[in-house]
Amino acid sequence: MKRILLTLFLLITCNLSAQEIKSPSEFLGYELGSRFTLHHQVVDYYQYLSNVAKDRVQLNEYGKTNEGRSLLLVYVSTPGNMQKLEEIRTEHLKSTKGEGSSTKAIVWLSYNVHGNESVSTEASMQTIYELLTSKQVYLENTVVIIDPCINPDGRDRYVNWYNQYKNSTLQADPNSKEHHEGWWSGRSNHYMFDLNRDWAWLTQLESRQRIKFYNKWLPHIHVDFHEQGVDSPYFFAPASEPFHEVITDFQRDFQVTMGKNHAKYFDTNGWLYFTKERFDLFYPSYGDTYPTYNGAIGMTYEQGGSGRAGLGVLTANGDTLTLKDRIAHHLSTGLSTVEVASENVAKLNEEFKRFYLPKIYKYKSFVLNGQEDHLKSLTKLLDQHQLTYSYGTGAMVKGFNYNTGKSGSLKTNSESLIISTNQIRGTLVKVLFEPNARLSDSLTYDITAWSLPYAYGLNAIASETLVNGTPKAESTVKKVTLTTDAYAFLTDWNGMDDARFLAELLKKNIRVRQAQKPFMLEGNRYERGSLIITKADNDRTTNFTTILLEAAKKYDKSLTSVNSGFVDDGKDLGSKYVKMIPAVKIAVLSGEPTSTLRFGEIWHFFEQQLQYPLTVLDGNYIGDVDLTNYQVLILPGGNGYEKFMDTSILSRLKEWLSQGGRLIAMGNSIATLDKEDVFNISAKKKQKDSVEITMASHENLAREKMKNDITGAIFKTRVDATHPMAFGYKDTYFSLKLGIDSYNYLESGTVAYISKDTIPVAGFAGCEAQKIMGKSLVFGVEEHGKGQIVYMVDNPLFRGFWENGKLFFVNAIFMAR
Ligand SMILES: [Zn+2]
Repeated sequence: MKRILLTLFLLITCNLSAQEIKSPSEFLGYELGSRFTLHHQVVDYYQYLSNVAKDRVQLNEYGKTNEGRSLLLVYVSTPGNMQKLEEIRTEHLKSTKGEGSSTKAIVWLSYNVHGNESVSTEASMQTIYELLTSKQVYLENTVVIIDPCINPDGRDRYVNWYNQYKNSTLQADPNSKEHHEGWWSGRSNHYMFDLNRDWAWLTQLESRQRIKFYNKWLPHIHVDFHEQGVDSPYFFAPASEPFHEVITDFQRDFQVTMGKNHAKYFDTNGWLYFTKERFDLFYPSYGDTYPTYNGAIGMTYEQGGSGRAGLGVLTANGDTLTLKDRIAHHLSTGLSTVEVASENVAKLNEEFKRFYLPKIYKYKSFVLNGQEDHLKSLTKLLDQHQLTYSYGTGAMVKGFNYNTGKSGSLKTNSESLIISTNQIRGTLVKVLFEPNARLSDSLTYDITAWSLPYAYGLNAIASETLVNGTPKAESTVKKVTLTTDAYAFLTDWNGMDDARFLAELLKKNIRVRQAQKPFMLEGNRYERGSLIITKADNDRTTNFTTILLEAAKKYDKSLTSVNSGFVDDGKDLGSKYVKMIPAVKIAVLSGEPTSTLRFGEIWHFFEQQLQYPLTVLDGNYIGDVDLTNYQVLILPGGNGYEKFMDTSILSRLKEWLSQGGRLIAMGNSIATLDKEDVFNISAKKKQKDSVEITMASHENLAREKMKNDITGAIFKTRVDATHPMAFGYKDTYFSLKLGIDSYNYLESGTVAYISKDTIPVAGFAGCEAQKIMGKSLVFGVEEHGKGQIVYMVDNPLFRGFWENGKLFFVNAIFMAR
């Protein structure tokens, strides 16, 4: 009997031992790599692990995606470490204050941020399995945090699509449809945003939920798993130049340590790879740079494959690249990363602590003045990054003036924001706020400027001495007291909260007017663009004042009620210069010819930022749609317009415009509107008069080409602040320019423009490219019949983070006719 009991006991304990954990293949019922695993199955596997290896695996659902899929973090370590996980975390975080004695390494592995780079999530499952079985030894001094899929909506979009189109037997012919994903690809998230450009801006739901946990852990090492083209082999650390100057010698060196360990395995297996090329460390909103600027070794690993690769595809060399190969490579680097971490725990902890020692940066404080709305939206972003700030004391501050590009001064007030580098995340403050980041090499494929004072449209000084501030004074709560019998209610027009307030009123059928000229009334001055809601316009709406009050409260707007429409100065409230804002119906073009990213920015803007209805049309059938149902049609940028804008489409647009439609043409859709004999627009694209051919050696070709390029730089533009499209702006606007397309000024209706001075205030612009930027249009409005064309050469909705540009877009939609 005893013997039987003992056997039973042994059986039970063996059952719980490492050998009995099911591999992904065993659990899923098919060999990993023989098909793609849907997100819910991935969740099931991780849930299974957290049940079967409770003492070593902990699962945490940190949020849901736009389409309702689970976002997961999985913590893996030894039972001993897992028992005191919270203790390990707090001890580790003490390092950021120069305290504590952390003895563990924290490694965070992020998979599948790009949905159609679909190998990563598959590899994550095999990686955790190996960590729990054959590689347990790494975990003794290491906590591994796995995010199996940052972008489940995009990944399932790809996997579902692939499953519909794949041949039943492996079809590696790259011409086969299963290797051509089409327009609606799985790379980006639900709103077609690239989540690997969003770490710093946090415009997307996935990013905002993830960052809370990332900031709770601040790992020593963060890896972002990707895929590149099918003909590229594998890329791992060290990264390529340019490196941002804040990156420490240790961070650079450790990338090499890491790369050499990976190379060892790749060499043994005879796998090809490259390092130090293509993938740089500069733009701060990536999954490698953001962690790097927070003290981690942040790395991108790129397998050859992505949406073209399917289960197997022929490469240019005639080899067949299979999903199983791709899994093996990502598995290898994932495990090697944890191995290197576990071998360097003391060093990682020592250097992490050193990273957070106070640093001497040139600028100690950034001081910002400006519209309350803009300051408020900036503090929301700072809070999410756990950056601290204080408020002005009335002192005068000297330093670099962002507006003039010269030294200057600014008088602070109790609303002025002060953000200093003498805080725990001082490095991130420097990266996000400094006027112009130093670029060690112009060969980068992303934007080279992002300085937040420009993005938020604030007056700013970068001070070389520390500026002291005070905590925010207890705000005198704005009390909205509305006398129900007021003649009208007035409010200002400066930012996105105002726009959301307007959108809410229009949705509730409240009629709103807008002042075309400044005026004085009952002792207050109102600028152009001020909103005017009169009793006379709304006396048919029951609960009019209740609706108004609720909307004001929701968007933190203060309203002023007035008892008369007779102004002290300017135009009376009944004047023709006080125009009704139309509750327009809006459509946007999607599909070919647009770009998914440019379309997604607009879609997200309407649904998640403005909260105003939008009809999404497709290039496939727009020819059959009665456009007179819409007052506004938006053409996002895209590369397919040349083919799309044929005579029939142009004639229809022309007809619709003549009947009063408003066309908002963005980016490279503009040039294709201009067709001789069909449609003449006055925005003429500038050609370079004489392209200077400089002889470039074969080796220097890429560098020579950069002379003609702008990948993203900030230009100072002038604004006609009297134009309705510029209401809420003053006479300058800093625009993020993303390419070299350049148009002449309009004869009339030029709203924002670059004058003669064409040197960007921040970022890189090639010397040849700069030349054609002189005297060029940025935004403009042209009358066409009863309608208008709005030209947006620059894209204020780019990646959703250029806060100060958004009101131009809102004006373009709602400005009175
Ligand atoms: Zn990628």
